[in-house]
Amino acid sequence: MKDRPRILIVDDVPENIEVLGEILTDNFDLQCAFSGPEALELAAELPDLILLDVLMPGMDGFEVCACLKATAATAEIPVIFITAKNDPEAEMAAFAAGAVDFITKPVNPVTARARIQTHLTLKRQKDLLRAQAMVDGLTGIANRRFFDERLLAEWRHVQRYHRSLAILMIDIDHFKGYNDHYGHQAGDNCLRRVATTLGAHMQRAHDLAARYGGEEFICMLPECDLQGAISKAEALRAAVAALEIPHAASPSGDRVTLSIGVAATIPSSHSSPDTLVAAADAQLYQAKLAGRNRVRAAPCLECDPRV
Ligand code: GH3
Ligand code: MG
Ligand code: MG
Repeated sequence: MKDRPRILIVDDVPENIEVLGEILTDNFDLQCAFSGPEALELAAELPDLILLDVLMPGMDGFEVCACLKATAATAEIPVIFITAKNDPEAEMAAFAAGAVDFITKPVNPVTARARIQTHLTLKRQKDLLRAQAMVDGLTGIANRRFFDERLLAEWRHVQRYHRSLAILMIDIDHFKGYNDHYGHQAGDNCLRRVATTLGAHMQRAHDLAARYGGEEFICMLPECDLQGAISKAEALRAAVAALEIPHAASPSGDRVTLSIGVAATIPSSHSSPDTLVAAADAQLYQAKLAGRNRVRAAPCLECDPRV
């Protein structure tokens, strides 16, 4: 069954796996590995929890655990060691290797199930918290923290391949007036509609739209040059205009509109993404000055003049 937690049992003695299997098979999907290397191979499929024998020929449990913890993808999988009874040294070593718990042999079924359940619950809550911490609560799109993390990663990526990266800084025009006229609740709804529209226009896998602050949004377009970014900005501006959200209090039209600042660069070895974001922000300021509801763009000369 798909919604049952998946547990990987690692032990070189098949009888030991059988004992654990009998205890757990009713509640969990089980996979078995009979050696350290086999365990690492199956761990790459990201089971929800790993039960790991300490003593195995070749690669022992401590080594396996150290490998799992050293690999980003598998580091978060909880590992419970199965240790021989009365082996305090092995228990200490298990925690040192990054285990969350240990179960002693011979295995007590009630204790084993309870401990496994506890760690599965903790893991699920941790995953959920991490996902929630990265999403803006009001609009449901990425938040600034997630954006900054992704931007740094994409910056390094395009830097290595000498490709360009573009940033769009987006701000709703006269939004204070919107709130004052229609109320904060309507303001929130407007923010949601704008955010959803921006998000829907991020078509490439690594393009990302995020809420950057109150009524400010930001988009990152890796492997996109200035001309491409300007086209995208115009498309976003048009898409929000097409929502035709009435804005009776706007001095620059009767619909909700966006001003967008665009900057692009090929990151050099000494430049930072902050410079590019600042360049896009400066263009946003120019768009506001020029009358709002428009796009302003410039290459980020401080970053790299080639774009
Ligand atoms: P400009 O065209 O120069 O951008 O003018 P503006 O009124 O949009 O800009 P300003 O920065 O003066 O006002 C931003 C407003 O956005 C003020 C604040 O009430 C509103 N705002 C910020 N965050 C939220 C939010 O989460 N919900 C709602 N409803 N309004 C918000
Ligand atoms: Mg504004
Ligand atoms: Mg603003």
